[in-house]
Amino acid sequence: MSNQMFYKALQSECLTQKANLIIVSKNQSLEAIKAYYDLGHRDFGENRVQNLLERKAALPSDIKWHLIGHLQSNKVKSIVDFVHMIHTVDSMKLMEEINKHAEKVDRIIPVLIQIKIAEEESKYGLEPAELSGFLSEAFKRNFPQIKICGLMAMATLTEDESKINEEFQTLRSLFQESKDSAFVDPAIFTEISMGMSSDYKIALQNGSTMIRVGSLLFQ
Ligand SMILES: *Cc1c(COP(=O)(O)O)cnc(C)c1O
Repeated sequence: MSNQMFYKALQSECLTQKANLIIVSKNQSLEAIKAYYDLGHRDFGENRVQNLLERKAALPSDIKWHLIGHLQSNKVKSIVDFVHMIHTVDSMKLMEEINKHAEKVDRIIPVLIQIKIAEEESKYGLEPAELSGFLSEAFKRNFPQIKICGLMAMATLTEDESKINEEFQTLRSLFQESKDSAFVDPAIFTEISMGMSSDYKIALQNGSTMIRVGSLLFQ
């Protein structure tokens, strides 16, 4: 299948499942990204701040840029005036920085909390058991410039679909628990960002609302 045909098929799958497609443009040429822009796509994701800034400068200004990789506190300032959503918040320090810089540019930043669900030792993300304490503290501290919109995670890189399924289920139930808690606004806490090229189908089956797909769309 051509890239374009695959894109259309993926879009209609997302529509059926009420999910949004974030095209992960990392490692791709500006021309290849622009081709999806020209088809009408606007949500793109980058995992490094430096690349995000370069692409943002080189591509049309109505692109909605998602930061999907780790964010260091000292880089917040450089993206806060334009970023559409930060998928990878995993510390109170980062919440503080985002809130502080967003206030200076008078924006409210939509964020997701990144959770470790994979078996691999990953450096980033909260442990599932840390989430409710984190949300309760964020609620008490009240960050007026931040909207906590949901959760994000990556599954273990494995061929074992039942394992991936279990991990996505874990994220889904954490999402539901959090949404039912007193610490988030259920009208705003609506997003589960999970699923990439290798596992987006399993993610959609488990209620993903945002899949982040890169390599499959650029072959
Ligand atoms: C690279 C990346 C993706 C997309 O991965 P593909 O396998 O290319 O679809 C999704 N999420 C994150 C956090 C990434 O870094």
